[in-house]
Amino acid sequence: MSINPILKGVSNGFKPDPRYTVSEYADDKRILTSESSAEPGRWRTSRVPFAREIMDACSPQNGGSQVKVMKGTQIGGSSIADNIVLCYLDIYPCPILYILPNQDLAKGTSQRRITPAIRNIPTLEEKILGGKSKKDIGEMFTKRIPGGGVTLGWSNSTSSFRSFSARIVILDDVDGFGEFGEGSVMALGKKRADAFPTSSIIYINSTPTYSGESNIEKEYEESDQREYFMKCPECSEMIVFRWELFVFDHSNYVLKGEVKFSCIHCGTLISEKKKAHMMSENNGARWIPQNEGHEHRGYLIPSFYSPWVTWEKIAREYLEAVKMIKQKGDEQYMQVWQNTRNARPFIKKLAGVDIVDRNSRVEVYSAQVPSAVKIITAGIDTQDDRFEILVLGHAHNGELFVIDYAVIMGDPQFATTQKELDTYLNKKFTRVDGALMKIEGTAIDTGGHRSKDIDEYVRHRLPDRIFGIKGSSVKDAPTINKTMYQLTDRNLVSVGTIRIKDNFYAKLAIKEAGVNFVHFPDIEVINKEFFNMLTSEKRDDKGLYVPIRKRNEAIDCMVYAIAVIDILLVNVDTLQHPLIHIGEAEMIETVIKPIQDNYMDEF
Ligand SMILES: [Zn+2]
Repeated sequence: MSINPILKGVSNGFKPDPRYTVSEYADDKRILTSESSAEPGRWRTSRVPFAREIMDACSPQNGGSQVKVMKGTQIGGSSIADNIVLCYLDIYPCPILYILPNQDLAKGTSQRRITPAIRNIPTLEEKILGGKSKKDIGEMFTKRIPGGGVTLGWSNSTSSFRSFSARIVILDDVDGFGEFGEGSVMALGKKRADAFPTSSIIYINSTPTYSGESNIEKEYEESDQREYFMKCPECSEMIVFRWELFVFDHSNYVLKGEVKFSCIHCGTLISEKKKAHMMSENNGARWIPQNEGHEHRGYLIPSFYSPWVTWEKIAREYLEAVKMIKQKGDEQYMQVWQNTRNARPFIKKLAGVDIVDRNSRVEVYSAQVPSAVKIITAGIDTQDDRFEILVLGHAHNGELFVIDYAVIMGDPQFATTQKELDTYLNKKFTRVDGALMKIEGTAIDTGGHRSKDIDEYVRHRLPDRIFGIKGSSVKDAPTINKTMYQLTDRNLVSVGTIRIKDNFYAKLAIKEAGVNFVHFPDIEVINKEFFNMLTSEKRDDKGLYVPIRKRNEAIDCMVYAIAVIDILLVNVDTLQHPLIHIGEAEMIETVIKPIQDNYMDEF
């Protein structure tokens, strides 16, 4: 037991005992009020034994760390953050920054949590420098003390904290943080502690939201991923509360009988009555990393560990959520349950196509270009170190034929890389009768880091029908928006990617050759990875495309290659067999008759 530094007399100029931890402070000083707690009175860490290590990981002894908590509700998560703030204010004065999702939450945290908590610790209350009136404990969003203080900021107004420098940074409820065009709020928040590299503590906590979008999911993944293990009362092996191991019965989604936990080692069904005993540190319960060795600490706490919510209640809510899915197809209840009780990010049910078996989708073309193809276009994705190119053949009735896929390595801003691209785009593709077809139009992505260079590249290639495009993922964006091009007097076009993807994925789902079918050649570059990239995005329930895999170049290229037809205003169904130019060997060219002649004149 450490000596209480208050008794040692901090005010007399003595340094506090550096071993004094946040949990010891909370046990010594914290009084929970009815405003902030279901269980008012003295704080006892033993009530929530899993919280001890989390709080102590935030003690000064662990300076320079990030502590991340992915939690369910009713496990005392906010109290942990408050204890950290109070301990530093009282014992280790320094600048503290506490960021919440919005100003209302910051106000509520100040009024209902921080201010009453300070009021209940007289030694701390007297250190707080005055607010507007004598009755105020500090100001609404700032509690200053000699040597430091706590400032509340909110994520949707980064100006509320961006100029701030703090030793302790608390990022609370981070799945409520948005993105506000100045880069990640998370990164901006963490940066506030840069001035204190060895003594800072960054404490991050939240209930998760959707997988792939959740801030706390990302943070927890980048941690040592601790879970709270306890001894099985029967076999003494270490076990962890996971939802899959809870056992209960129901009749028509109404819970029947007791909810028990089954030991993964001995199969014994454990009653909730044994929970408190099992969770006790004296009984050997402890956090065990599942991703050992990571520099940041991460803690996962589902609500099954809560002393304030029963397994029975959690199981009833679960059954209700299952019922809503089965009877109404409504997943929202399950999403809430997964996030708030199981403390796991919810995986959206996404609409999309998967091609798992490459060999069942590819076919041997009669030639490089099948005879049904009336016009060839190309779509190019620009990366920092390469171009990726898809060459696409369009036939009548919406039928598509992938002709080729190529990668040109090299930084797109360099003339050498651009020259190599030119060479590729001038390639001729052989038709079954031996005639050659060329790419009639190309759309190249001008987003990303090489934007200016690609703008410049396309500027000189108008006669080659190479168009710079910017993808627009606005839901109702038209497939092609000429406004941008008209404004800038260049061959730059905005492409509504959602509509084109909708259309393409609908085609991809068709299983029989014919109208709207997409054909793939049996060539080496059209491999498993190509199909993974092509199906790397799925539509969520809001109608937006979300990535499910990292690499997506092929689908982007496909969208651009399709967009070319709209940019050229070609009606593929009216195109006749491409003409062979007499005298130009076997060179053939598609006769393009734009739908609106005046549109092409503008180029
Ligand atoms: Zn057991």
